[in-house]
Amino acid sequence: MATSRQQAGITGEPGVLTNLRERATKLQESEPRFREMIDALPAAIYTTDPDGYLTHFNPAAVAFAGRVPELGKDRWCVSWKLYRPDGTVLPRDECPMAVALKEGREVRGAEAIIERPNGERVWFAPYPTLLRDATGKVTGGVNMLVDITERKRDEQASSRLAAIVESSDDAIVSKDLNGVIQTWNTAAQRLFGYTAEEAIGQPITLLFPPDRIHEEPVILQRIRRGERIEHYETVRRHKGGKLLDVSLTISPLLDGRGRIVGASKIARDITKRKQAEQALLRSNERLRRANFELQQFAYSASHDLQEPLRNVAVYSEMVSRRYAAALDADGTEFLGFITSGARRLEMLIKDLLAYTRTASAPDDENEAASAAEALESAVSNLTEAIRESGAEITSDSLPEVRVREVELRQLFQNLIGNAIKYRRPEEAPRIHVSAERADDFWRIAVRDNGIGIAPEYREMVFGMFKRLHTDGEYPGTGMGLAICQKIVERHEGRIQVESEPGRGSTFIFTLPGVEAQ
Ligand code: ADP
Repeated sequence: MATSRQQAGITGEPGVLTNLRERATKLQESEPRFREMIDALPAAIYTTDPDGYLTHFNPAAVAFAGRVPELGKDRWCVSWKLYRPDGTVLPRDECPMAVALKEGREVRGAEAIIERPNGERVWFAPYPTLLRDATGKVTGGVNMLVDITERKRDEQASSRLAAIVESSDDAIVSKDLNGVIQTWNTAAQRLFGYTAEEAIGQPITLLFPPDRIHEEPVILQRIRRGERIEHYETVRRHKGGKLLDVSLTISPLLDGRGRIVGASKIARDITKRKQAEQALLRSNERLRRANFELQQFAYSASHDLQEPLRNVAVYSEMVSRRYAAALDADGTEFLGFITSGARRLEMLIKDLLAYTRTASAPDDENEAASAAEALESAVSNLTEAIRESGAEITSDSLPEVRVREVELRQLFQNLIGNAIKYRRPEEAPRIHVSAERADDFWRIAVRDNGIGIAPEYREMVFGMFKRLHTDGEYPGTGMGLAICQKIVERHEGRIQVESEPGRGSTFIFTLPGVEAQ
């Protein structure tokens, strides 16, 4: 086996031997001071003789190794167990200190993992250094072990982060404060068509269509102020020229000292979503137009039906008046059916017209009406029915609401008209109108003591031409509540009925309050 002198490649130099004894003495004298100094240092340090046997270690080395090494017995290292960076076991006699002593050279840049007897593992960088006497002969080694666990953890975290960025479906790009691209992930290449090589170092405006270039100074200004820009929907350009709808989230990038040094940009392709939105918009518009046309049709059809129908009614009445004598009993009865059928059809068409008129009335944001006044004029329109039935109508103080006066009057008129019509024969109608605030809306209730509505019909009664009675029992068209619902819903309100059959009903509708806007 080669001696350590030979390993170090040192050959004897007899000329300097004269001073050797002196120097060796000096070294021995200074050794206790040297040890004292080592012991005071915070880094783990130990020394060995030329064969690698431990000669000294400081308290920091004990703490680092998690054990007290045995002098003269432990060789090469203070550690209990060692591993290479890849996790495989590193035999003690191959550790950096062993390599340094065996090969007579300093070892730098190595990294290893030490395991303490309690199982803890610590990453470290060793600095094995050879000690030589005046002749250059290796007299031993000194090694310093620097804990790099934290740095390793940071490195691992950032390489994990880099892997996440790389595998992201969203394009992730960073740029400096001059708008020059610094990093570029695979998804960015997929989205914009440029490779990392092509993009890095280029201005980010590479991705801007010409008519959007003005956005960049504004973005950079906001980034310099430390602002984050979230879900900014804009248009960017693919390498091939195709325009892309993207949603951008741009955040300032900080250096270790918290200074803004650039921006990270996450870009998501929303072309498909935009297309779907456009398609939805188009189909809504088509639906709206179809609906409008249908209303127009219903309106003009019912309008045009009125006149021929009036002729049927008028002439059948004339026949029954003037030619009554010429008809037998059946003829008179049939003519009666024609007359009442025509009358009824007239009523239906009148209500249908009223409904379509309500549905297509223009919206006016500023419309407002006093519910008290609307109620008053509804009541005055119902004077005849009120007198006949002996109805008693009372009300709380009522608010102003956002609806046209004529519509509110129509609402009250239909509801109070029904409350009178659907009364119980044994009791005169008692009707009460009340109002209460519900957020930005008013809840207005019209309560009666009439026949009530069975639970299963409570939704149905608001449908067009939906009736629970025959014309013989109670005359009507089934359009009154449908009109009420149309008026209320046009103003974002709701209408519903609470009822107990035989004890009365309460129709409740909501309309926006005036102060709400
Ligand atoms: P119409 O009164 O012309 O039949 P509406 O649309 O006004 O049409 O009412 C629909 C149905 O709801 C009525 O046929 C009736 O059966 C029921 N209804 C409406 N208001 C009341 C009420 N106040 N009490 C009991 N039933 C009612």
